[in-house]
Amino acid sequence: MATSTTGGSADAAPRVSVLGLGDMGSAIARTFAERGYRTTVWNRTAGKAAPLAEAGAAVAATAAEATQASPLVVVCLLDTAAVEQVLASLGDAVEGRVLVNLTSGSPAQARGHARWAGEHGADYIDGKIMGDPPYVGTPNIMFPFSGSREAFQAHEAALKELGTIAYHGEDAGAAAVEFMAQVAVGYELLIGFLHTLRLVRAEGVDAEEFTGRVAASMAGYPPLLESMAKAVKTGEYGPDLGSLNVQAALMDDMISHRESLGVEAVRMREVKRLMDRRIADGHGDQGFSSLFELLPPRG
Ligand code: NDP
Repeated sequence: MATSTTGGSADAAPRVSVLGLGDMGSAIARTFAERGYRTTVWNRTAGKAAPLAEAGAAVAATAAEATQASPLVVVCLLDTAAVEQVLASLGDAVEGRVLVNLTSGSPAQARGHARWAGEHGADYIDGKIMGDPPYVGTPNIMFPFSGSREAFQAHEAALKELGTIAYHGEDAGAAAVEFMAQVAVGYELLIGFLHTLRLVRAEGVDAEEFTGRVAASMAGYPPLLESMAKAVKTGEYGPDLGSLNVQAALMDDMISHRESLGVEAVRMREVKRLMDRRIADGHGDQGFSSLFELLPPRG
């Protein structure tokens, strides 16, 4: 917290600059300003800086001026194209700075930014944001980081002000890998959930009551996921969820039930097709995790 970080004297307070004052950048800048950091902000559309100025931040006229103002520079813009434009405008100001880029983007883009920073005498940390602006400054928003370990350790206290943080290693792309994979798990689960709500509604079951029961069942998933990951890692596949021989028979019923109600069964058909192939290969005694062996890329 600011009081311990700053030691109570405004001059001794750590300095941070925030480039980009959209919804997320503003929440980040406000968190730093309210916790006593000497915060400098810049935004392309200058008017968005006014509420931050009221919160005690200094407003820079250019991104280069903001970058010059602090050893730690947090970048939170719309996308990689915006980041590239803003970085290109920084000139010598970036030399000796630690850039923390929280803009969403791919692992390859993060690695590209890290190379750019290295060529311009700056350290680079990539971060991704898992949560919404109102949660910034609370433990209920997650920030995976990766890139320069030394820079991360030097600024860990400041980054912790933003939420729950985790460091994923020196590869600047690692935070984006984590983000993309976490988001993918969510979307894959949630589209399946929506299709299943179609099924539930078609059968006349109350969606909210059903969801309450599903939420209770979800408690069993963390240990299952852990045992699946272990099986995938070791290649030793026990009969998780039962043997494929037994599960495949159930899948036929699930597919025909969905189709009889006009509900999408594309994922169930994918599962059944994989089970049939695995059984045909002589692995019908293994479990669901063993389908991993058939998923691309193989090996
Ligand atoms: P906003 O749309 O609210 O803000 C976008 C920001 O990018 C503005 O400051 C905008 O400036 C700036 N910008 C866009 N293009 C350029 C450009 N070419 N040059 C300079 N500045 C530019 O987005 P958010 O703040 O919500 O999101 C920022 C990042 O955070 C995104 O990468 C997003 O994916 C990520 N994120 C956001 C979440 C959210 O819930 N909001 C959740 C998780 C991640 P201007 O004001 O001048 O238009």
